[in-house]
Amino acid sequence: MTHSAAPTSARAAHSAGGAAKLTIDLTALRSNWCYLNGKVGDGCTCAVVLKANGYGTGATEVGKTLYHTGARVFFVALPEEGIDLRKELPHAEIYVLNGLFRGREKFYYDFNLKPVLNSLEEATEWSAFAQGLDEELSAALHFDTGMHRLGMSIEDALKTGESPHFLKDIKIDLIMSHLACADTPDHELNAKQLDRFQRVCELFPGARKSLSNSAGIFLGADYHFDMVRPGIALYGGNPVPDDSNPMLPVAHVLAEIISLREVPTGDPVGYGASRVTPRKSRIATINAGYADGLHRLVGSSDDQPDGARVYIGGHFAPIFGRVSMDMIAVDVTDIPEEHLSRGAPVEIMGAHVNVDELANFAQTIPYELLCSLGARYTRHYKR
Ligand SMILES: *Cc1c(COP(=O)(O)O)cnc(C)c1O
Repeated sequence: MTHSAAPTSARAAHSAGGAAKLTIDLTALRSNWCYLNGKVGDGCTCAVVLKANGYGTGATEVGKTLYHTGARVFFVALPEEGIDLRKELPHAEIYVLNGLFRGREKFYYDFNLKPVLNSLEEATEWSAFAQGLDEELSAALHFDTGMHRLGMSIEDALKTGESPHFLKDIKIDLIMSHLACADTPDHELNAKQLDRFQRVCELFPGARKSLSNSAGIFLGADYHFDMVRPGIALYGGNPVPDDSNPMLPVAHVLAEIISLREVPTGDPVGYGASRVTPRKSRIATINAGYADGLHRLVGSSDDQPDGARVYIGGHFAPIFGRVSMDMIAVDVTDIPEEHLSRGAPVEIMGAHVNVDELANFAQTIPYELLCSLGARYTRHYKR
């Protein structure tokens, strides 16, 4: 008997891959940015929020694609995310939302990252660093208009206005705040935050102003100011939860059938025997589980029979029983035989199973779902 050659090349390893596939549709991403950019009009800059690896989709690819589409301003959460992006985009404006981390001024300086200063303390440190270099350094100032997470208070804003020494050698090129309830248009906090933000803006006539995230863009032109900062809508999440989603899906997760079986009526499927077949059933096992970002809450049990669904050959099929680490079981009894074979493709998330629907089942928001798309996926980019 002869040995078959071991698959050693990278290509062989790739084609031998059994992980579900995550495809990022860069054309849809570009359309989403263009749609939001058109919505805010010419006088307003449409920036790009790229924190958490671009909401799981890959920050550098997204950054490059949208830069070439016309975006010039990018927001990351952490300085290291900014450094990665800077290597790809030498001319972009990059702001670090989580502010100036203590003692790390030089990283920001070396990679031309602008801190979003969140307190007088941060402003003082950035100012001292600038004075030490004898250079003027840019930064944004974030004001807390009611969310109480980050940003300096309005009282501090008044102080910075009256005592500019806090800001010596800092060029404030952006004033910003963040809405807590933009996805609930009728929430009274929106108008309150808008009013407070307008008061702060008066103190900094020379700086650009920015208030809105994705959902804020849909609250109307009053909320646009000079710049908007969409994140989730670019990646296909619905910025208007009470309405149909105007954005195109960007993240597509395609898995495959790895096993098929008949299960007689009244037999259990999966861990905990949580789901028992109500009829003679055809069960397909699919190669994606909670290690791949499919939250356990998308599964089903006899007490909670409504689980999420997947899409196979033009038909929806419900997840049957608990989600395993690397697999789910799906009830394919009603799916025509021709779509059922080992290797047949199964959409877990994408054009038919949208990210908002899946997030609902997982009792979370599309943000968390996208960010948790597993490290196991290789990301494929469709241009
Ligand atoms: C995350 C974030 C955004 C983007 O929010 P989306 O709801 O994803 O559009 C904008 N601004 C700040 C300060 C953020 O933290």
